[in-house]
Amino acid sequence: MEEIKVYPDSILRKKAKDIERIDDRIIQLLDKMVDIMYKHNGIGLAAEQIGTLDKLVVIDLRTNGNNRLIELINPIIIASEGTYEEHEEGCLSVPGYYDVIKDRKKWIKVKYLDRNEEEKIIETEDFLSVVIQHEIDHLNGRLFIDHLSPTQKLVFKKEWKKLQREREESK
Ligand SMILES: [Zn+2]
Repeated sequence: MEEIKVYPDSILRKKAKDIERIDDRIIQLLDKMVDIMYKHNGIGLAAEQIGTLDKLVVIDLRTNGNNRLIELINPIIIASEGTYEEHEEGCLSVPGYYDVIKDRKKWIKVKYLDRNEEEKIIETEDFLSVVIQHEIDHLNGRLFIDHLSPTQKLVFKKEWKKLQREREESK
């Protein structure tokens, strides 16, 4: 997992920068992110997770084994509604830890650019909406563990120490 930045790496707390021009570097970066996401069996990845502050997100839920790759450049949530039901989230940057999140929006409308520099709008609800919110959080230096209640955060701290110890021991 070395190519993926793991909590508490400081880059995960930074704000990504808008992409001004979609050049070769950006295209190569997108391709690399897609490869890394699939390699680690993730369903989403933000550029910060591989150490660059570009406003890029890739997502593929692979529902029923079918690929549907979504690439978001400079994504921004322009409208949202409702609250998604309690559900568990995890993150490649917080490996091994999963917890219940209660405050995601149900429906969102997101503006972004595709790799051909065309402005697009995606309106989506339920699980895909939640994954997009999780990834856009990354671009704002936020992690899913920031959404935990104070009690959940205490559990996380304890669990995370254990997970870190286990990772050290298995090296
Ligand atoms: Zn994540």
